[in-house]
Amino acid sequence: MKYISTRDTGHGVSGARAIIQGISPEGGLYVPEQFPFISSGELKMMMSQSYPERSAYILSKFLPELGEQLLDACEKAYSRFDGDAAPLVKLDDGLFILELWHGPTYAFKDIALTLLPSLLTLSKKAEGETSDTLVLVATSGDTGKAALEGFKDAPNTAVITLFPTGGVSNLQKLQMVTQEGENVLVASVNGNFDDAQTAVKNAFADGELKKYIEEKGWKFSSANSINFGRLAPQIAYYFSSYIDLMESGQIMAGEPVNFCVPTGNFGNILAAYYAKEMGLPIGKLICASNKNNVLSDFFEKGEYDADREFYKTASPSMDILISSNLERLIFEASGRDAAITKKRMDELKQTGSYSVTEKELAFLSQTFTAGWADEDEAKEALGGFFEEYGYVTDTHTAVALSVYSRYIAETEDATPTVIVSTASPYKFVGSVLTALGESVPDSDKKAIAKLEDVSAMPVPETLTALFSKKVLHSTVIEKDGLSDLVKKFADDMTAKKK
Ligand SMILES: *Cc1c(COP(=O)(O)O)cnc(C)c1O
Repeated sequence: MKYISTRDTGHGVSGARAIIQGISPEGGLYVPEQFPFISSGELKMMMSQSYPERSAYILSKFLPELGEQLLDACEKAYSRFDGDAAPLVKLDDGLFILELWHGPTYAFKDIALTLLPSLLTLSKKAEGETSDTLVLVATSGDTGKAALEGFKDAPNTAVITLFPTGGVSNLQKLQMVTQEGENVLVASVNGNFDDAQTAVKNAFADGELKKYIEEKGWKFSSANSINFGRLAPQIAYYFSSYIDLMESGQIMAGEPVNFCVPTGNFGNILAAYYAKEMGLPIGKLICASNKNNVLSDFFEKGEYDADREFYKTASPSMDILISSNLERLIFEASGRDAAITKKRMDELKQTGSYSVTEKELAFLSQTFTAGWADEDEAKEALGGFFEEYGYVTDTHTAVALSVYSRYIAETEDATPTVIVSTASPYKFVGSVLTALGESVPDSDKKAIAKLEDVSAMPVPETLTALFSKKVLHSTVIEKDGLSDLVKKFADDMTAKKK
């Protein structure tokens, strides 16, 4: 299977190469030349499989060159989860929650980032790539820690994580600045997430910087969801949850299911779209945005307009105005036209906006519907679901609860629906307590104990251990400071190797 770029369909590379590079040289994103198909017979067969087996099965369709070792890699990754990697909880008839936060950092990014280091190692082997890998990550809070945990002390790899100063929750910050490992660097950038992401994109495109690190034996890669190695593992849980519904008799084989996904960079919900393209019976994909509602506006009007005020919300991992992975969807909507996709992405960079045609919007509307929730609406939904079902979600998932409720009220759509839950409520404990109408104690530690009292949900053990950890990282850089930081880190890492 070949992978082509959304901005240049002429030069296909292997999946292994796409993972090693992260992004195509001309700035486009790698996509499979065609989507592999999973038949209804295969879905039935997968009913008897464990989550790692299902994941390896889906991945082998995209990355056949990685072979038998994919199963080992998936088993190793998901053994780091507390129990099942992607359990499905029933709230009501036809209403389910897919909990994707039982991994080492309590957010759904773990599903892909516990696996990505192995995918990268196997890809390098398959391609005979001998240089070491320097992973650059921009994070709105959750990706950074998940990447650090995934890559710490991984052989022939180093990782730099960049988060927006003041743009992440206390716990998210504490998780990152206490990160151990010989091959990790954590820094914050004075700006918001889009600034951090732009700094990383600019570093990848900086020929002089690339040359500097390559002379020392390093090559860049990306652990952001622009890397196809991040997306592929996310496709697996859509299949797995559908198969769980079949297995438990909640749906008949072939019956459509809706998914409602809290969205920021458009990676999670794009994986759902890919699952649909692969034959999974998906009805609607409900895209849920917070107050940074650039995506719900896009699905309504066909215009992507990032030139607007940026809000900090209680769902910081969705505080994003430039949703990188939307490029992959635009590419599909245009009939896989690289020239049009490139033109639109150039327009976005230059003017902050672009539009799709009415025909393309109609095409997208067949699958996607979208909505957004402001801070009060998300809080109300969180509190309301707790009252009704005794179930507490985090603040990101709460955005999806709100958008789902409005969608049902407006459409009366009776299709069984899975709401994708992206983080443990404990990770955003202060905002969750507020939404439940509780006062927030003056320390996160006490707040966690209080939420345990109120919700009766078990606290992950490693979360409380955080508070006694030493702060190991305090670097702060300006928006244009990444290049110098990378050079210094590459020098340090190279010195350590010797
Ligand atoms: C990253 C993240 C999101 C948004 O996911 P995208 O793939 O960027 O759309 C939502 N919720 C949480 C908790 C996250 O960490």
